[in-house]
Amino acid sequence: MKRLRPFFAFLFLLSVSITAFSQREPLAQKNVAPWTCDLLIVGGTVVTMDKDRRLIEDGAVAIKDGKIAMVGKRAAVTFHLTAKQTINAAGKVIIPGLINTHTHVPMVLFRGIADDLDLNEWLTKFIFPAEAKNVNEAFVRAGTRLGLAEMIRGGTTTYCDMYYFEDAIADESKKAGVRGVLGETVIDFPVPDNKTWDQAMAYSERYINKWKNDALIVPAIAPHAPYTVSEAHLRDVRALSDKLNAAIVTHVAETRKERDDIKNDPKTGNGDTPVKYLNRIGFLSNRVIAAHAVFVTDEEIDILKNKGVGVAHNPQSNMKLASGTAPVPAMLRKDLAVGLGTDGAASNNDLNMWEEMDTAAKLHKLISGDPKTLPAETAFEMATIRGARALHLDDKIGSLESGKAADVVIVDFDDLNQTPFYNVYSHLVYATKANDVRTVIINGRIVMLDRRLLTLNESVIKKDANAYRLKIIESLRN
Ligand SMILES: [Zn+2]
Repeated sequence: MKRLRPFFAFLFLLSVSITAFSQREPLAQKNVAPWTCDLLIVGGTVVTMDKDRRLIEDGAVAIKDGKIAMVGKRAAVTFHLTAKQTINAAGKVIIPGLINTHTHVPMVLFRGIADDLDLNEWLTKFIFPAEAKNVNEAFVRAGTRLGLAEMIRGGTTTYCDMYYFEDAIADESKKAGVRGVLGETVIDFPVPDNKTWDQAMAYSERYINKWKNDALIVPAIAPHAPYTVSEAHLRDVRALSDKLNAAIVTHVAETRKERDDIKNDPKTGNGDTPVKYLNRIGFLSNRVIAAHAVFVTDEEIDILKNKGVGVAHNPQSNMKLASGTAPVPAMLRKDLAVGLGTDGAASNNDLNMWEEMDTAAKLHKLISGDPKTLPAETAFEMATIRGARALHLDDKIGSLESGKAADVVIVDFDDLNQTPFYNVYSHLVYATKANDVRTVIINGRIVMLDRRLLTLNESVIKKDANAYRLKIIESLRN
């Protein structure tokens, strides 16, 4: 024991000297060489959504080459740092860009065309006929620009889409600088861009090969649903996904009718409900993103989890069409990758992720009768990092961490609807509105600065949309 004393004395002296030294200059910064970043956001509270859920007061985010180079306290990040451009976010909140896991973006042009109907009547009497008469590439481009502008204004930086002419949607998204998992819709009847199944599959293959290495666009194939695409064609889709390592976006178990029809159809169900049926035919994989999953059993949630399927929960669309309520608390208990989506604006009627967070948190409290269900932090997680998991992109987006893509949103926190402020997640989910989003950065590029869109022309977008309104009204009279 005696012989150990000098050693302990040495350790004590060493710790004192380290403490004294660290008070003069933080050890972590001692060896930092001078460095330069492209864009620096300083001040404000950084909501990282990293695995420790760090909240950093007076924080900073440094961005270089489209990626987050450093996140932390302002003093630590800015040590020896020169920034080409700086945004002062003092008093504001810096969050990961929101992720909308389910849209049909050009359908903003059908916003309000037919409301207050169930899915079947809404689809067959209004949406499918209106699409047949109006949708072409120019329509899709105009609708996409409108939807992109709305999403950027509301702080959405990534969206998952399924529609026709998806190559044009990818092109418009790329130009606007918005990230997307964009699925070309394939379905068992002639649609505006492809008249036969073979044409649709050939289009999808060309489209996926064209975009597969893009920094912003993740090209995908999107079979509409198990009730509109045959078993043989679903097998074709899975084979193409395997061949090209491509994502699959689809609707699953959205309504009671779909569940019962599949279950009772001798060609498909054999008594199986939609998820069990898709599993039996070998369709499910960790490249699938399934929208809705309203009518799923506990066993089917396990199947989705085991197969690595991502799920898009669309509370407002499901409520408006009275489809039902997805068992999201059960999905969360099993740690399923379930994100939030708006669905198309024709059944919502907007692309506002703030409303989806607020609605999801409240809907599941109401249904469960337990106000502790789906707390604000969980709703925000579903709109960010869990949404990224649902899109199979959580290694790249969904949180503010060094090495991830720089998809960053700055939110004002001082409007009347946010005053006073106590808790950041509560404010983000229950008090913040899309109008409170101030600045949006995607892949390191500023696409909105102080509420001004930098990559899209708002007045031209509105003029184009209003011109389509007249055409659509006319087409539905015939
Ligand atoms: Zn949908």
